[in-house]
Amino acid sequence: MPSDHGSNRRPSHLFYQSRLRRPAVDRAEGIYLWDQDGRRQIDGSSGAMVVNIGHSNPYVLDAMRRQMEKVTFAYRLHFENDAAEDLAARTAALMPPGLERIFFVSGGSEAVESCLKLARQYALATGQGGRWKVISRFPSYHGSTLGALAVTGYDALTQPFAPMMREMPKIAAPTAYLDRDGLSMPERGRRYADLLEAEILAQGPDSVLAFIMEPIGGASTGALVAPDSYYPRIREICDRYKIILIYDEVMSGAGRTGKFLGAEHWPASPDLVALSKGFASGYCPLGAMAAPDWMVQPVLDAGGFQHGHTYAGNPLACAAGLAVLDEIAAHDLVGNAARMGAILKSRLEGLKARFPFIGDVRGKGLLLAAEFVADVETMAPLPKELNAYQRVVDLAYERGLIIYSRRTRGGVEGDHFLVCPPMIITEAQIDEIMEILVATLDALAA
Ligand code: PMP
Repeated sequence: MPSDHGSNRRPSHLFYQSRLRRPAVDRAEGIYLWDQDGRRQIDGSSGAMVVNIGHSNPYVLDAMRRQMEKVTFAYRLHFENDAAEDLAARTAALMPPGLERIFFVSGGSEAVESCLKLARQYALATGQGGRWKVISRFPSYHGSTLGALAVTGYDALTQPFAPMMREMPKIAAPTAYLDRDGLSMPERGRRYADLLEAEILAQGPDSVLAFIMEPIGGASTGALVAPDSYYPRIREICDRYKIILIYDEVMSGAGRTGKFLGAEHWPASPDLVALSKGFASGYCPLGAMAAPDWMVQPVLDAGGFQHGHTYAGNPLACAAGLAVLDEIAAHDLVGNAARMGAILKSRLEGLKARFPFIGDVRGKGLLLAAEFVADVETMAPLPKELNAYQRVVDLAYERGLIIYSRRTRGGVEGDHFLVCPPMIITEAQIDEIMEILVATLDALAA
């Protein structure tokens, strides 16, 4: 019996509601969500690539309940707390060697802001005050606060605020799969990385502070992976000009790509890492910056890190994060993301034979995307009027599957959808997703 209580059916005081005015969510478990009409949806995008360990995990809920009964909030300037200490130690052990100092925040934008501000304060503390420019890529998404937005490559989001922030230089994201230049993939990877060197030289090396990128792209580029040669070359260029390399692993981190960090897929490590989303898997707002001692210590010695948020490192969020890391380790969910991701990716690849408008399937682990094209040879995008990126989401939803989609790629138009289910997914559940996807794409093609 449909209820009258869905938030889509009553006047709302919220700023906005979902475009689709769907019935409100009622409950969730594992990879499934139920709305107030009792309809089940597969969470095929883990929210916005957040709920990595699945919904309503009893171990995590129990750990949170235990923490809540002890203390939920104690201001960090008044008290240390064990949950934060333990989570910092556990997180540091999962980072690339040397990134042993962990700074907690409550979300992805805050994690990115922390990286930008620590990098700048390190420059100031070490007599490099002329360095302040942070180069990033276009397109990209690094968050909604003004600092994170300044390094975001997404005009519709940034331009209204341009006068209010110092916009930063951008280089093209490595969309090598679109190039028709006769070069090999390794050559293209190096060529895209060399754009960074050209930009550093154009800006003046002594004015450049940092370079920020997602090692594996999120929604703005549709799970974009650069050719392997890109990553070590970027590292080399940053070393040559003493530029701090920041990896935004807000979406690609916490195991989603089949390694704990996306960075681990290549033999090149960042200097700073931003984490959030899957880090606490949606159980609490939580994010973190991982930083090396050589960057943190001079800042502390020079008077302290001038940055922080009230809720940062609160015991409840940290207890949730700790329990999430326990679950990831106890069930080898990173390994499962790699194994199930390989199966899901090859099943998505298989769709190309039946649906010629699927031009590219990409990503790693369970951060996967498929892109629609009008012509597989030229990779020309589908006409905008077809609105394919929204229709595919609507058609999938009607069939019980939630996916995530966008209409940007490499600065030009291009529809893609992401399939990023929770890391607990089984092969039988991949079958369920694929059955709905095939029906969805049949309906889209009709
Ligand atoms: N960086 C990346 C790569 C993201 O995907 C996001 C969120 N989509 C953010 C930063 C910002 O995170 P939040 O929305 O938690 O502030």
